[in-house]
Amino acid sequence: MKIPAKCDVAVIGGGPSGSLTATYLAQAGYDVALFDKQRHPRHQVGESLIPDFWKYCDKAGVTDQILADGFVRKAGGTVDWHGTTRRIAFKDFGYTRPALHVERDRFDHLLIENARAKGVQVFEEVVAGECDFGAPRGARITCRPLGEGGTAQSVDCRIVVDASGQSAVVGRQLGVRSFDDAFRFMSVYGYFENSKYYGADGEVHPAASVHAVPPTTFVSSVPNGGDWGWCWHIMLRDCVSIGFILPMDAMKDVKASERSWEEYFLQQCRSFPRLAGLLEEAKFRAGSVRVVRDYSYRSTQVAGPGFFLVGDAAGFVDPIFSVGVVLGMYSASAAAWSIDRIFNSPERTAEHIALYTNQLQGRMEMARALALPQYEIRGSVGEEARKIVKFTDEKAKALMYAASALTGRAEHVRAMTGEPLPRTASGTVAADPR
Ligand SMILES: Cc1cc2nc3c(=O)[nH]c(=O)nc-3n(C[C@H](O)[C@H](O)[C@H](O)COP(=O)(O)OP(=O)(O)OC[C@H]3O[C@@H](n4cnc5c(N)ncnc54)[C@H](O)[C@@H]3O)c2cc1C
Repeated sequence: MKIPAKCDVAVIGGGPSGSLTATYLAQAGYDVALFDKQRHPRHQVGESLIPDFWKYCDKAGVTDQILADGFVRKAGGTVDWHGTTRRIAFKDFGYTRPALHVERDRFDHLLIENARAKGVQVFEEVVAGECDFGAPRGARITCRPLGEGGTAQSVDCRIVVDASGQSAVVGRQLGVRSFDDAFRFMSVYGYFENSKYYGADGEVHPAASVHAVPPTTFVSSVPNGGDWGWCWHIMLRDCVSIGFILPMDAMKDVKASERSWEEYFLQQCRSFPRLAGLLEEAKFRAGSVRVVRDYSYRSTQVAGPGFFLVGDAAGFVDPIFSVGVVLGMYSASAAAWSIDRIFNSPERTAEHIALYTNQLQGRMEMARALALPQYEIRGSVGEEARKIVKFTDEKAKALMYAASALTGRAEHVRAMTGEPLPRTASGTVAADPR
C-alpha cells in the first residue's frame, strides 16, 4: 500500500493508544493513516491489565479476538509491602469480567490488525518525524519508510495524533514534556519458565495451573528501595515476567561495574526470599533481560490546534498499579470523540481541546496520586481530578482506594479526592496471615 499524500487524521504509533484512536475514528467514517516505526508483533513491556480495559475493546469491536486468544486471566493482586502481605480480588469489587496478563506483542498485534480491518491504512516500519502545524490543511507530517530506498514523504492531514509512547514525537517537538525530577527511575526485567505463583486464595500454585487457578499480579517492595523501589511477578501463558523498578542511582553502580544487566537481574531475583521461593524450580530464559526508563512525566499541553497527544506520549506515571494501558485506551476514546466533534463543529475547536485537556490531565493526576510515593496536589489539575472521581463508577473507585492502601498511598488519594476514606480501603483488603 502506498503512503497517501493526505488523510483526515495521521496517527503516530501503533501501540494500544494509537491503534484504538485510529479504529474509533475509522469507525466514525474518517480517513485515517497510522504509522509505526516497528513491525508488529513487536516487544513491549506492560503485561498486567486491570479489568476496566474491556469497554474500550468492546467499542473497537476487538473483544472476541482477545477472548479467543486465551490470555491468562488474573484474579487480583498480592502485595508484599515492607513485610506486610495484602491481597485484593477483583470479584470482591463487583467486577464480572476478568483482568488479563497479556503478552504485549500478541495483544498489541490484535489491536493493530483490528484497526486495519476497520479501515485504517496501517504503515509499519515507517518513522514519523517533524510536523508542521502551520500547513494549509492543518498539519503536515514527514514520514520515512525504513530500509533501503526509503525516501521521506509528506502527508497532509487535519489533525495529528501523537501515540508514539515514550518517544513522544510531537510532545518533544513542541517542548511540552515536564519530567518529575524526584522520579528518575529505571526498570530491569526478564523472563523465567515454570515459576510458581500466588492465586487469589493466597496459596502458592504451580505454573501448570495458570489457566485453572487464575494468578494474581504479585508486587513487592524491595530492600533499600524505601517506598520507591518495587518489583513485579506477572504470570503469562508459558513464562513469568519479572521486573525491578529502581532509582537511577542504584542502576548507575551497575553501569559503572563490570557486572552485566543479566547478572544484576538474576542476583536481584535471588535476593528476595519470597520471589526466590516462587522461582526455585524455574528456568531463566537466557537473553531475555532488558532495561527501560521509568521516568514519570506529564505534558504541559496535551492538545492544541492540529494535534492531540494520547497514551504515554501525553504522560507516564510509574506502573505500580498497572494503569498505563487503560489510561492510554481512555485517552484514545476521549481524543477520538473530541476530534469527531471538532470536525463536525470547527467553531468549537477551542472548547473541545479544553475539555480533552481537563479530562486527561485529571485522570493522569489520579494515576499520580495512586502511584507516586510522594504526592502534592497541583492547583487546577487537582480540581479536575476531584471532579472525575465524583463521576467514577463505584466499583472502580472502591478498587482505587483499596489498591492505594496496599502500598500506603491511601492518604494521597484521600488528599486528592478530598473525600473521607471509605470502608473498602481497609475492609476489602484482606491481610494475609502467611
Ligand atoms: C517498566 C514498565 C512496566 C509497565 N507495566 C505496565 C503494566 O503492567 N500494565 C500497564 O497497563 N502498563 C504498564 N506499563 C505502561 C505501558 O507499557 C504503557 O502505558 C503502554 O504501553 C502505553 O501504550 P501506548 O500505545 O501509549 O505506547 P506504546 O505501547 O509505547 O506504543 C508506541 C508505539 O509508537 C511507535 N513509535 C515510536 N516512535 C515512532 C515514530 N517516530 N514513528 C512511528 N512510530 C513510532 C513504537 O514503535 C510503538 O509501537 C509499564 C511501563 C513500564 C516502563
